[in-house]
Amino acid sequence: MVVVQTIWHELIAFLGISQIIEICKTGNYKVLLTLNGIFSAISPLIPLLLLIEIGRAIFYKRFKIEDYKMPFFIFVANRFISRFLSIAAVAFCIGVLEKYALLSTNMKWYWFIYGYIVWEFSHFIYHYLGHKVRIFWCLHSTHHAPESMNLSVTYAHFFLEAPYADVIRTSICILMGVNPPLLFLIMFIDGTWGAFIHVGENLIKDGRLGFLNKIILTPSHHRVHHAKNPLYMDTNFCNLLNIWDKVFHTYQDERRDMHIEYGISREVNPNNFFDVYFGELYYLWKDIVKAPGLKNKLLYIVMPPGWSHTGDHKTAKVVKQAFIEEEKAAMAAASQPMPVAASGAA
Ligand SMILES: [Zn+2]
Ligand SMILES: [Zn+2]
Repeated sequence: MVVVQTIWHELIAFLGISQIIEICKTGNYKVLLTLNGIFSAISPLIPLLLLIEIGRAIFYKRFKIEDYKMPFFIFVANRFISRFLSIAAVAFCIGVLEKYALLSTNMKWYWFIYGYIVWEFSHFIYHYLGHKVRIFWCLHSTHHAPESMNLSVTYAHFFLEAPYADVIRTSICILMGVNPPLLFLIMFIDGTWGAFIHVGENLIKDGRLGFLNKIILTPSHHRVHHAKNPLYMDTNFCNLLNIWDKVFHTYQDERRDMHIEYGISREVNPNNFFDVYFGELYYLWKDIVKAPGLKNKLLYIVMPPGWSHTGDHKTAKVVKQAFIEEEKAAMAAASQPMPVAASGAA
């Protein structure tokens, strides 16, 4: 009985419907007009979309259990540890840093815009480090390991990633004067949109969302971010406003002539929990052990993935550069006039 109850509570928590149930029970529908009420009405959207996505995949006989199995295991593993650590980290950063804030803000609309731009900047920093510093990549790669895109991928994260991301993001926002209620509102919007951009091709085939692709970061941009195609690697780090990708030249549109290949560049066994969760840490450890000297060992921890003490780097930058040059050479060759046959002409 306890087991059934626990599963029931977990299901309600996953669906994000506990507050809605409470509102229905008490009949206090006025709550829905408050900020908290709006949060509780929006919370079930992503889990609901995920269920629709799975339902459609089953209906069209495209459902593959492997696409969902690993994110589900990771979600269960993270459910408790990560959430508590994250809340504690946010509370700690606010408590320590609030008195050093550069300016003070409130819930006015213009501070909301300011706060969102600062939040996106802090998200960019955390996410960029997650791809460019090997030890952080070890934490972030779990999210990139799935080889197909669907809403369950949004739950696939290494359990230490959320706390460290929140320390970076909260610290920058609080120091830049984003006050806590404003920060929580932004976090909520960011969390909801950040989950939605993982919607799979099964539910929304063209993730560009029409004209929105020109203004904000769409599922199409985030699909590019999850791709291992050389041109797409390490691009589109933002979540909703992609201004910082444009500022730092990491913006990349989805090309119609380039099919997205999801996953990370090394061979991963997507059905092996330990490979998906700890694989990158294992390979980092192997590189550290075989590296000569303390300096090289330390460099493996902080340099981008693919960096090598031998100088034979396979970083995203190197791989992408080689691809661009190859493509340029192929285009130049294709635009050359066909040589005229030198002999045989009458
Ligand atoms: Zn990423
Ligand atoms: Zn993602």
